[in-house]
Amino acid sequence: MKFLVFSEDGNGATGLVTKLRESGEVDSITLGGEESKCINYGSKTVTVLKGRAMGDNSLKAIQAMNPESYDKIFISSSPLGRDIAGMIAATLKSLVITEVFDFTLENEIIRTKRFFYGGKTILEEESRAKVITTQPGAFEAKKVDSSSPLNFVELEESKISLEEEVEKDRSGTDIESASILISVGRGIGKKEALDQVKPLVEAVHGELSGSRPVCLDYKWLSEERQVGLSGKKVKPKVYIALGISGQIQHIAGMRGSKIVIAVNKDKEAPIFQECDYGIVGDLFQVVPKLVSSLK
Ligand SMILES: Cc1cc2nc3c(=O)[nH]c(=O)nc-3n(C[C@H](O)[C@H](O)[C@H](O)COP(=O)(O)OP(=O)(O)OC[C@H]3O[C@@H](n4cnc5c(N)ncnc54)[C@H](O)[C@@H]3O)c2cc1C
Repeated sequence: MKFLVFSEDGNGATGLVTKLRESGEVDSITLGGEESKCINYGSKTVTVLKGRAMGDNSLKAIQAMNPESYDKIFISSSPLGRDIAGMIAATLKSLVITEVFDFTLENEIIRTKRFFYGGKTILEEESRAKVITTQPGAFEAKKVDSSSPLNFVELEESKISLEEEVEKDRSGTDIESASILISVGRGIGKKEALDQVKPLVEAVHGELSGSRPVCLDYKWLSEERQVGLSGKKVKPKVYIALGISGQIQHIAGMRGSKIVIAVNKDKEAPIFQECDYGIVGDLFQVVPKLVSSLK
């Protein structure tokens, strides 16, 4: 089979290409500056779109690559990726399946899994969809020894004019690739209390992440650090949940973690159904004890 993979940031292609290369030939596309992240995963070619990528000019560049000749087109979910997915599917007169986190292929039949009903259930579908968007970080990435040849394409000028550009509040962190995450929930109480958690983050050389109320509602942490259905999907070796109740929409983002440790003062909190180690207690008492025993 022949696959085309689009990933805006390069990272989204790594696991996808690793999974697809067992079933056929993969050509990848990414944006200028991101190519170094995805050249060692077995793509036959990596096409790099240079210039300001918008939906219309990226679509044109992909159309020039003859998308009809591919059996399936996989797009790592991102703002631009989601834009393009709908447009390519429309031009190919194909169904598009979005936000897939697992799939199997049998010739043109694809069996996909994605969350449904706000993450409360998993929808398993069988279709002939040609265009599929996948959740970033859903598939394990394994490098190969060789590098893919690069093919640079200059993007045409977009018809979409940019009125204003506002810099996103980026903390420069990439929680999706962290191997240890200390995730805080509403139980932390206030922003200043984060200082009491930071010694634990330092002791385990981890990264801070949080639930939606912490990142989106109260903005105690940046949006980049939100874990969950509407946040990032993470798969660290160790996930430490502090003062997080464990609602399904949060679990949807961290259920791929290898070891989950939860601290919550409510012994009935749902997070205790999802963890390997659970500590019923006040996080402000438990965290200093963990830090001193780690030291
Ligand atoms: C469409 C949709 C998408 C969503 N997407 C996301 C998402 O991406 N990510 C996400 O996280 N949520 C998401 N949510 C929200 C989700 O449903 C929950 O509301 C949210 O996860 C709750 O966050 P929390 O666990 O931090 O807060 P709470 O549910 O309020 O839990 C706080 C916990 O802290 C405990 N606690 C309090 N004080 C202490 C203390 N001192 N020590 C120890 N424990 C303490 C409490 O016992 C409680 O269990 C989404 C909801 C919807 C409808």
